[in-house]
Amino acid sequence: MRFPLSMTAGMAGYIFRNKMRPRREWQQDSAAPGENNGTNPFQILHGQAGTSGRRTPHPMIRKRFPLVLMLEPLHACNLTCTGCGRIREYEPTIGQRVPLEECLAAVDECGAPMVSICGGEPLMYPQIGQLTAGILERNKHVYLCTNGMYIVRRLHEFRPNRRFFFNIHLDGMEKTHDLCVERDGVFREAIAGLKAAKAAGFQVCTNTTVYKETDMKEIEELFAYLEQFGVDGHQLSPAYGYSAVDDREIFMTRDDIHEKFKDIERLMKRYPLNQTPPYLEFLQGTRDLPCTAWGTPTYNIKGWKGPCYLITDAHYRTFEELMTKTPWESYGRGNDPRCEHCMAHCGYEPSAALGINAKPGDNLKMLTWALR
Ligand code: SF4
Ligand code: SF4
Repeated sequence: MRFPLSMTAGMAGYIFRNKMRPRREWQQDSAAPGENNGTNPFQILHGQAGTSGRRTPHPMIRKRFPLVLMLEPLHACNLTCTGCGRIREYEPTIGQRVPLEECLAAVDECGAPMVSICGGEPLMYPQIGQLTAGILERNKHVYLCTNGMYIVRRLHEFRPNRRFFFNIHLDGMEKTHDLCVERDGVFREAIAGLKAAKAAGFQVCTNTTVYKETDMKEIEELFAYLEQFGVDGHQLSPAYGYSAVDDREIFMTRDDIHEKFKDIERLMKRYPLNQTPPYLEFLQGTRDLPCTAWGTPTYNIKGWKGPCYLITDAHYRTFEELMTKTPWESYGRGNDPRCEHCMAHCGYEPSAALGINAKPGDNLKMLTWALR
């Protein structure tokens, strides 16, 4: 994600502290030593084989700590988007909500400096204003991910804050977006919400999921259209093939993703993209990154979701259990077939932010990106 400079500096300080003093109990592997040696993709990224012939692990692979908490206070939504895994996977508990105090306890328990409130539609959560204020009081940065339809009616429950962003879901121009969310008029309502939030002094970003059918020229058209409203940043995410979504046609392979993002540099120069340059290079196919899903833990009605925002193999009662009981080394490309084509930001942005597989010149790129 792209942050204001103070936010970038705060995050850099947090990463530095955790690199220097990682919590020992979070760095253990659950698998026995030697397991996965033939297939672990991290080994490609690790140091060169020494005289013993064994590769040394990349130092950051075993420095696990959270960067962004994905907080899902509810899974209910007023829409039924084609590619949404949440409303399908959590259908049995869709009427339930995480109590406000429990949401704030999860924020404290995790300790990540940034919280992404998602769902479901968070603006359907009755205490969303109190929840956001409570997280901001804890000195965190907050992204509220919304389809935008309830912004106008609930805006009075929020106060502008330099650490708070509305993040509005827009998958294309009006016709395409309304098709993706399976309802006419959604684009217009989202834009009305965006305009109202900007007029009231809030910071607003957009989030676009890129599917196999997405025309990247239309995404450029969308960004050009949004420029007039002074949008503060854009996030582009390649769609992940949820097993809960029974439509394989809309999801992409890694090769498809590389093709879609091959001209991303041009967009990056012209518009404020939230993603870090190393992550965009990963999407382009010019850089490899390992999955570091522990960087973006998810909390919802069932507890701490492991291993990641996308795959559910377990729900843990405590954050400590998520960090210590998840067999992290068993996930990622080459270890789990479900990870094969995943290039989602929840697994790979932390790797970019942590400087894994860094190249000379990355620091300058990151500084230029932060200053833009
Ligand atoms: S708006 Fe978001 S939560 Fe609601 S159905 Fe669409 S993708 Fe799912
Ligand atoms: S590669 Fe993707 S699906 Fe697999 S664990 Fe990482 S984030 Fe989850």
